[in-house]
Amino acid sequence: MTGHHPHDHNDHEHQHPGHGDRHHDHDHPEHDHGSELSEVDLRVRALESLLVEKGYVEPAALDALIEAYETRIGPHNGVQVVVRAWTDPAFREWLLADASAAIASLGYTGRQGEHMVAVENTPQTHNMVVCTLCSCYPWSVLGLPPVWYKSAPYRSRVVIDPRGVLREFGHELPGEVEICVWDSTAEVRYLVLPMRPAGTEHWTTGQLETLVTRDSMIGTGFPRHPEQLTGGAP
Ligand code: FE
Repeated sequence: MTGHHPHDHNDHEHQHPGHGDRHHDHDHPEHDHGSELSEVDLRVRALESLLVEKGYVEPAALDALIEAYETRIGPHNGVQVVVRAWTDPAFREWLLADASAAIASLGYTGRQGEHMVAVENTPQTHNMVVCTLCSCYPWSVLGLPPVWYKSAPYRSRVVIDPRGVLREFGHELPGEVEICVWDSTAEVRYLVLPMRPAGTEHWTTGQLETLVTRDSMIGTGFPRHPEQLTGGAP
């Protein structure tokens, strides 16, 4: 269920081992320039300084963009989508049929969220999301990707051994549960719709929201157990 896909976007961190011999060593973590900043950080800072200096960007606009992704746009958006699907059967059907439109109806649109697909976990099937080539991720509903999502080991291993990767995240799935791995692309971003935990039938929307984790929407985790939060049903 994975496949290669065109990557014509510019949001990712491909390794470019051969793009200039002056930088032939930039994949190595050991730097000798005495800075605490990574090479990527340094390059970003240099670029930002240059763009600001030349008048191409407003520092305030950059700050606003970064702040949006740190505060306004994040997994809490995805949480709203999941809880709505758990509590509104018509919305759930819409989400599974046309996730882009269903999610946009809640106001979560924009960069990296234009073409969304929701994949639903069931007792028989568990879904996991990866970008094998870089770091495509549904920003509009999950915010910025966690570091491990962008790491080479996750990207390569989740395809080969999703069950083992899940185990490393602390979750053991019964052998009869099939795992589907979805490879995100520049065109399509996936959101996992986790299963609503049993025993939450009478929970309010606000209570349900506390159960949904970011990782449960990537498929490397599950919703919290109701007992974990309340010591019992409310
Ligand atoms: Fe990517």
